Amino acid sequence: MVWIFFIYGLLFGSFYMALADRWCQNKSIIKPRSHCDYCGHTLAFYELIPVLSYIFLGGKCKECKKRLSIVYPLVELLTGGLFAMAYYLYGLSPKLIIMLALASLLVITYVSDFKYLVILDVPLLIVCVIVFGVILWTEGLVSGLWHLISGIIMFLMMLLVKIVGDKKFKRESLGGGDVKLSFLFGLTLNFYLGVLVLVIGSFLTYPMAVYYIFKKKEVEIPFGPFLVTGLVIVFVLQNQLTEILRLLIL
Ligand SMILES: [Zn+2]
Repeated sequence: MVWIFFIYGLLFGSFYMALADRWCQNKSIIKPRSHCDYCGHTLAFYELIPVLSYIFLGGKCKECKKRLSIVYPLVELLTGGLFAMAYYLYGLSPKLIIMLALASLLVITYVSDFKYLVILDVPLLIVCVIVFGVILWTEGLVSGLWHLISGIIMFLMMLLVKIVGDKKFKRESLGGGDVKLSFLFGLTLNFYLGVLVLVIGSFLTYPMAVYYIFKKKEVEIPFGPFLVTGLVIVFVLQNQLTEILRLLIL
């Protein structure tokens, strides 16, 4: 079963990348069919097999022989790995659904935010609805409402940080997408663990920020991918982290 999830992950990873690419460029999802970015050559079915096509074609387009990005097979492998891990950890349980949704958002955000500095609203909204649905189903209405309130508090908190930051630095300090993402952290994990996602996300951003400061480059560093990575980490380790938080607070 783990292998089936791995293979599904490869296929979904390939699909999510195409989806994120097309949405960020405001292209239709269905037409035109998948094609080479350089020469426009329409890809045949055997050129669309995740990872394997890349290996068989030697990482080059069949028509124009331009080198294809290694990022594509890597992201496919990442999605496969996350899907397999989701099944391995949670089996066929409600938590599996949440984990698959978070893994999907992770992959889409990697492509959209690293490549285009955009966090797409529609995938985020879909994931919020799925997560909220599963919580209502497994934990009931009262718990569901607490999760919802946590999400709203986190959203307002980050919005405040953004407003103060924008004024202080006189430029966009925090993307609107990052503020919207915070809602999902509270919704999925409740308040304390939600805040922990922000802390871990910031730590993960640190090496990249230091790298650019070192290189003296003025670039906008995408925060979204690191935040969603933090979310997946905290979600997987939530029991252990809750214990640690309890020891620290008591
Ligand atoms: Zn080509």
